[in-house]
Amino acid sequence: MPLKVATLDNDCTTLSDQVLEDFIRQLRGVVLREDDPEYEKSRRVWNGMIDCYPAMIVRCAGTSDVMAVVKFARAHNLRVSVRGGGHNVAGKAVCDQGMVIDLGLMNSVWVDHQVPSVRVQAGARLADVDEKTSSLGLAVPVGVVSRTGVAGLTLHGGLGWLLRRDGLTVDNLLALEVVTAEGKRIVVNAREHADLFWALRGGGGNFGVVTSFEYRLRPIESKVWFAAVLYPYAQAQKAIAFWRDFMTTAPEELSSFCVLRGRPMQAAGHKIPRQPVVAFLACYSGPFDRGEEAIRPLREWSTPIADFSGPKDYHLQVQRLFDKDYPEGRCYYWDSLFFNDLDTRTIKIIAEHAEHCVSPLSSVNVWALGGAMNHVAPSATAFGKRDCKFMVAVEANWEGSEGAPANMAWAIDLVDALRPVSRPGVYLNFPGAAAGLQSLVKGSYDGNFAKLQEIKKRYDPDNMWRGNFNIVPECDA
Ligand SMILES: Cc1cc2nc3c(=O)[nH]c(=O)nc-3n(C[C@H](O)[C@H](O)[C@H](O)COP(=O)(O)OP(=O)(O)OC[C@H]3O[C@@H](n4cnc5c(N)ncnc54)[C@H](O)[C@@H]3O)c2cc1C
Repeated sequence: MPLKVATLDNDCTTLSDQVLEDFIRQLRGVVLREDDPEYEKSRRVWNGMIDCYPAMIVRCAGTSDVMAVVKFARAHNLRVSVRGGGHNVAGKAVCDQGMVIDLGLMNSVWVDHQVPSVRVQAGARLADVDEKTSSLGLAVPVGVVSRTGVAGLTLHGGLGWLLRRDGLTVDNLLALEVVTAEGKRIVVNAREHADLFWALRGGGGNFGVVTSFEYRLRPIESKVWFAAVLYPYAQAQKAIAFWRDFMTTAPEELSSFCVLRGRPMQAAGHKIPRQPVVAFLACYSGPFDRGEEAIRPLREWSTPIADFSGPKDYHLQVQRLFDKDYPEGRCYYWDSLFFNDLDTRTIKIIAEHAEHCVSPLSSVNVWALGGAMNHVAPSATAFGKRDCKFMVAVEANWEGSEGAPANMAWAIDLVDALRPVSRPGVYLNFPGAAAGLQSLVKGSYDGNFAKLQEIKKRYDPDNMWRGNFNIVPECDA
């Protein structure tokens, strides 16, 4: 049957049987259409709010498939999206009526013991990397939920438990393999396509399809000291102020975020008291025998409701601690803001607003930044917000799509209240609905935006890669 597919210019084209057959014959992977039994599962992404019906989903089996798909999409001017792990909260991995370039089958991980480094195919999840590196006492600094896709997380920065010791995920990148908008395979590193290497360290999916990432591996002891201390919500404002001061002088081996749960918590698999809480979470990645002392102030700040702190296996426990709290198919709306500092007024807004969250699954997470992330100059990579000390992630999480208006309104109201006192832009891995606006994309990159536009013009002048947080090649924003 001929297939109608949306084009880049919001029109539609019809692909004949013959054209499709010739295309499919070039591939090792599979093409799914609406009548395929695998289609329904494959069109879904992690966020249950996203309900896109692509005309076709191409499940690529390797780089040569990606090259063939890009050439085909280009020849027919098709609307495309690129799917790594499918965990982008805004659902950018899929597109209505267009073609999804799905990299999920490409999830191999190879360790090079000499460097040491690891090469990771772009469909891998964080857990795939952890599995290969855990027995070696090595890690890639990635995010805090192991089901998340490596690709999307890396391309917009990557914040996690080793952030203050080893920097952003992109600070640990050595090289990438990329298929360009022309369908050419190139290797990108500090020597080859150095401009693109700069742009891909924060610039998202704007420049081509990344088929693999090579990261420097960092040493990690198998056991680390982890803090998970819960205090009554009534103390939230004082708790955040204490935590802010503590993290300002804390060792760089300590990475932490502070979680506000304004409604009695439901946390899968955790024995949590049923009352609103403010929680300090922290991971100490320095020498094990110094860890208990490093997290002690967080545990002794006041009288906790519960304290789950202790030594934990880094790969098997810490990296998977929150997996069950973010199941696939639940409804999610997240947004984020960066701050130079958190003054008393800002803390008050956060604490008062978080208390009135609609769903008991929702939270506001305040991340401490700084440390190694700060040692890299803001202009050294595309990632724009290195000098900020804190990031606030607003997470509306709820069951049942009918709850969308109220839950989203809660998150949007808080972001609106904080916007005047925050830095411009968002963390594009925790984007709100407005992150599609060019002004917000521009704000997210600070002084790096103009250079990103230049590089976009060089590698994707026709803006083929636009189904993302788009850096428009020609635009004054
Ligand atoms: C439960 C959960 C926990 C999270 N925790 C963290 C965290 O601790 N730290 C953090 O920094 N972030 C975190 N995130 C955010 C996460 O980094 C983003 O959602 C990211 O987009 C996920 O990557 P993905 O490959 O699954 O994305 P996808 O949804 O597959 O892709 C998102 C977009 O990225 C681009 N893209 C993906 N793959 C490629 C590729 N190979 N080549 C070119 N472009 C590509 C495309 O534009 C695509 O539309 C979390 C997200 C979730 C859902």
